[in-house]
Amino acid sequence: MERLTSPARLMIVSDLDHTMVDHHDPENLALLRFNSLWEHAYRHDSLLVFSTGRSPTLYKELRKEKPLLTPDVTIMSVGTEITYGNSMVPDLGWVDDLNHKWDLGVVKEETGKFSELTLQAETEQRPHKVSFYVDKSKAEEVIKELSQRLEKRGLDVKIIYSGGMDLDILPQGAGKGQALAYLLKKLKSEGKLPVNTLACGDSGNDAELFSIPDVYGVMVSNAQEELLKWHAENAKDNPKVIHAKERCAGGIIQAIGEFKLGPNLSPRDVSDFLECKVENANPGHEVVKFFLFYERWRRGEVENSEAYAASLKASCQPGGVFVHPSGAEKSLVDTIGELRKHHGDKQGKKFRVWVDQVLATETAPGTWMVKLDKWEQSGDERIGCTTTVKFTAKEGEGLVWEHVEQTWSEESKLKDDSSWII
Ligand SMILES: [Mg+2]
Repeated sequence: MERLTSPARLMIVSDLDHTMVDHHDPENLALLRFNSLWEHAYRHDSLLVFSTGRSPTLYKELRKEKPLLTPDVTIMSVGTEITYGNSMVPDLGWVDDLNHKWDLGVVKEETGKFSELTLQAETEQRPHKVSFYVDKSKAEEVIKELSQRLEKRGLDVKIIYSGGMDLDILPQGAGKGQALAYLLKKLKSEGKLPVNTLACGDSGNDAELFSIPDVYGVMVSNAQEELLKWHAENAKDNPKVIHAKERCAGGIIQAIGEFKLGPNLSPRDVSDFLECKVENANPGHEVVKFFLFYERWRRGEVENSEAYAASLKASCQPGGVFVHPSGAEKSLVDTIGELRKHHGDKQGKKFRVWVDQVLATETAPGTWMVKLDKWEQSGDERIGCTTTVKFTAKEGEGLVWEHVEQTWSEESKLKDDSSWII
């Protein structure tokens, strides 16, 4: 969060499964639309927060399966673990708060007396979360009985039932809502309370997110009955919470527009970039647009025309160099030439390209360095690299690509790179 020196323009706090991630969309189209929008219009001055019921183990698995961006803050295990940045540094202040009237041993002992409860996998049992499966028909009764027993033992817990099967027991002060409240308080104390916050969710454990004052909320179109029921009973008259018409990340994009929180046209919804010249060219925008064009080029979705090739060449410095992640160097103009030969070579191959953590810095007047992670997915194979692009502003020509340098991400080093062009 330190990268922002002033309050975030928008903070999005989103659940993952069936909210940011649509498990019924093998192409991940809505998620990719969101990703492009975020990197294009928000990354530089806004905060992305993922709030998930998943434990760190299952969260990392999801990141490998789906094209998720890197969030600024990750709230996991139903609001019991808050971490910051790429290296996921835990918030120890939050851990201290959660120890109040909580005893893991006592929770395990009491829950062991219920035959209706089936313990979830070991990775899902966390210092401040104990998780079970319980049949829908038995849930209500079990929750009531268990609450009374734990109270008698001197604990103050919260029992959350979601997805029609998952039962989580947490300290009373935990949960997605309290974790968000804690985060907002912390940002406020640093003088960085976000201008707007949008909470996004689909199931019972997300309801708390919509109860935090001054926070906008979107229940995606595919929200579960339990959340819609909660909304009808508790927040029906709150104009800051909507039930979107679109599924998952599509619903988030819709809410950004409906609440007028900022731009909500994803670059993926723009069909022809040549016709879409932005007035104030921004180096971050150039990169997002270029790699989207690159995806469409290799999928054969844009025409292999002289106009595109000429436009690309015109945006490169004649002596500009591209350093391939393998270490090989060639001129940017030759790289464009090579790209022409690969037009449509990924047609029908589930080829997708996305960029993550696009950050532009003006290093001297008219000179910009843009750093980003670029990912390519082809079928089930994914490779990524860290990319640095140097741009210079040329009178009358806008931004010119001067130097591009790439290095493989840790997990991509051993993979086949024969089809990696730029
Ligand atoms: Mg969910």
